[in-house]
Amino acid sequence: MLRGILLYLSEQKRLQNFILRRRLAQRVARRFVAGETLDEAIAVTRDLNSRGMDVTLDHLGESVEREDQAIMATDDYIAILDRVAEEGVRTGISIKLTQIGLAIDQGLCRDNLKRIAEAARRDDNFVRIDMEASEYVESTLTLFHELHQEYGNLGAVIQSYLRRSERDVRKLAASAASVRLCKGAYQEPEKIAFQKKSEVDENYVHLLRILINSGSPLAVATHDSRMIESAKQLMRDTSNRDAPVEFQMLYGVRRDLQALLVEKGYRMRVYVPYGTEWYPYFMRRMAERPANLLFVLRALGGK
Ligand SMILES: Cc1cc2nc3c(=O)[nH]c(=O)nc-3n(C[C@H](O)[C@H](O)[C@H](O)COP(=O)(O)OP(=O)(O)OC[C@H]3O[C@@H](n4cnc5c(N)ncnc54)[C@H](O)[C@@H]3O)c2cc1C
Repeated sequence: MLRGILLYLSEQKRLQNFILRRRLAQRVARRFVAGETLDEAIAVTRDLNSRGMDVTLDHLGESVEREDQAIMATDDYIAILDRVAEEGVRTGISIKLTQIGLAIDQGLCRDNLKRIAEAARRDDNFVRIDMEASEYVESTLTLFHELHQEYGNLGAVIQSYLRRSERDVRKLAASAASVRLCKGAYQEPEKIAFQKKSEVDENYVHLLRILINSGSPLAVATHDSRMIESAKQLMRDTSNRDAPVEFQMLYGVRRDLQALLVEKGYRMRVYVPYGTEWYPYFMRRMAERPANLLFVLRALGGK
């Protein structure tokens, strides 16, 4: 129930505006967000790189309502790619299509995505398209398949809580697309999404098996030790031993496990969000692990 409440609160704009103005809240969010500026995100990236980890940068911001905002977000991502190339740090980018116009017009979004993919390709870099709430899944995957033939440097994301995901995974695997597999972070109805953790986990392993056996590039995005062990086992069992597989985790979550995987020789990429619009992202992290609220309350209490 708490997860539902926190996810509901993550979408409340007035609460967002109130919280975003609080200095203390900004400090607390730092646990999961690299900072508000690109300089801070680059510094965090450099540090993670020095510890053997790759990064994917997310400039926080979600659905925009106006064309000029979508174009601005696109320009911004291109500027990030330029800066990354200049700095020589090892990071790709993760973007949300609603940030570049998906909720306004699919044509606008396609043009913006092409510009970003083009800029990334010029620098030999990679663009992961985050998966958002279920209302955007179909249009996101349609756009992905449309552009993937031309831009091999685009990757998709699949959420194991969605009942449709096996079908989507098989189609992505058939086109040798790079997939990030996660459990899914939004509040979805029973009709389209598994509600029990055991079902979401079971489907995660099922999808892992399909993806690992397909040999397509795969990002295993989870902090769940059981999922990680299943992935390792499947990697050992598969005949496609050279298939490129990496683990991915969120900045500030299970740092111990991130370091351990690197130590054991696995490829590890950290998802590093930054920017001023951290509120919905931060609330989704609270919803995933309500125990994190204790950490927040302690910080707010000044202890
Ligand atoms: C790199 C990456 C990219 C992602 N991209 C997307 C995306 O595009 N779309 C999308 O819907 N979702 C995305 N997610 C979020 C994902 O869907 C889950 O909501 C999130 O990862 C929690 O699920 P879990 O696999 O870690 O397992 P869970 O079963 O939720 O957690 C397993 C264990 O991991 C630890 N843990 C999990 N979350 C936290 C946390 N916030 N704080 C502290 N400990 C925690 C706890 O020990 C917990 O017991 C992404 C996640 C990662 C790691």
